[in-house]
Amino acid sequence: MSPTRITILGSTGSIGVSTLDVVSRQPDRFHVYALTAHRNVERLKAQCLEARPRVAVVAEKAAAHALQRELEAAGCPTEVRAGPQALAEVAEAPEVDAVMAAIVGAAGLLPTLAAAEAGKRVLLANKEALVMSGALLIDAVRRSGACLLPIDSEHNAIFQCLPTGYVCADEVAPHGVERIWLTASGGPFRDRPLDTFGDISPEEACAHPNWDMGRKISVDSATMMNKGLEVIEACWLFAVKPSAIQVVLHPQSIVHSMVAYNDGSVLAQMGNPDMRTPIAHALAWPDRVASGVAPLDLLGVGPLEFREPEAQRFPALGLAYRAMEQGGTATAVLNAANEVAVEAFLSGGLAFSDIAVVIERTLDALPTQAADSLERVLAADAEARAHAGSEIGRLQRRAVS
Ligand code: NAD
Ligand code: MG
Repeated sequence: MSPTRITILGSTGSIGVSTLDVVSRQPDRFHVYALTAHRNVERLKAQCLEARPRVAVVAEKAAAHALQRELEAAGCPTEVRAGPQALAEVAEAPEVDAVMAAIVGAAGLLPTLAAAEAGKRVLLANKEALVMSGALLIDAVRRSGACLLPIDSEHNAIFQCLPTGYVCADEVAPHGVERIWLTASGGPFRDRPLDTFGDISPEEACAHPNWDMGRKISVDSATMMNKGLEVIEACWLFAVKPSAIQVVLHPQSIVHSMVAYNDGSVLAQMGNPDMRTPIAHALAWPDRVASGVAPLDLLGVGPLEFREPEAQRFPALGLAYRAMEQGGTATAVLNAANEVAVEAFLSGGLAFSDIAVVIERTLDALPTQAADSLERVLAADAEARAHAGSEIGRLQRRAVS
């Protein structure tokens, strides 16, 4: 069997590092074609020296030239390129079989679309791409015959609980699926008194109790916007309405999601909370390979709890359901407003409890349009960023006066 040649978009991030870990365990099976990073050039350099990809991509030209010189001096044959066009090139290159889409946020949309349009095996971690433009991405997958496999642990779990032969983006209802249970840890604030939410610091929000992740998704987990984005992601991946998806708090993060069938069966996928499991699953699918994840000690994990998330504690979750029901560009608006609000919170310019306020006001202010072209989606994204920025400014002025 010839090896699978892989591009890892966002290789220096949490998912990227876990992907390289899995890939390095199966050197005969997986070859790295390209690695990409935004600003963490030092880590990218170390990754290039180890995996020796054909191409590496960074954001800035000057950084690309510097890295090229350093790699040459170290005898590494990698060619270094720069900029968004180079990201798309390594996603659609004919030498590539599979693309790990692990850039965080809206920045991942264009290269992920490029991989889908080129008919690759698309390993989708970048949920924001589906949230912004689910219709366009799914359409590209259908037209090109690309194979879309979910990396997000919940969606990967759901996929594993669906019948053999099920293809992402096809409806699950004809297979007897009645409901999808999306599990959520509830993040670091699931039990914190509500009247202290205004004082939450970025460090507290980024300290997730069960998962070790990038800063943006960690804050999303703390607000539960992450689960909201995942509801939207599940609607596109499994062709269901938001009402068929039920979010359940499961603080232990052992059951990664469940599928309920019309005969009363509920299938769950379980395992330790370690992203190398879904990554290994999607890389090798339909085979299985070792991932390095410790076996689940079922007798040691203790009781598994399931409870309903409180709407008042997690207003972002309701906003995501609302945006998906609205349809069109509303989910792109939700995503953009969230990214801007999370950045403002992380840099100390917005209270944690105002993240959802900014998103709600932005959703209220901007009219929903059909999300039928990339131009419209990107215009909605830009407009929402501008509006969210002005809402943050208003909240800051109020805090000062
Ligand atoms: P991270 O912040 O750790 O890494 C992000 C990666 O994207 C880095 O390699 C960074 O260099 C790159 N990047 C950032 N901005 C960029 C830009 N403007 N242009 C090009 N590259 C850019 O994030 P992460 O936690 O690895 O998450 C990556 C994606 O996977 C996100 O969409 C997240 O929602 C999703 N995801 C992550 C986890 C997890 O456990 N970390 C789980 C499920 C889904
Ligand atoms: Mg997830």
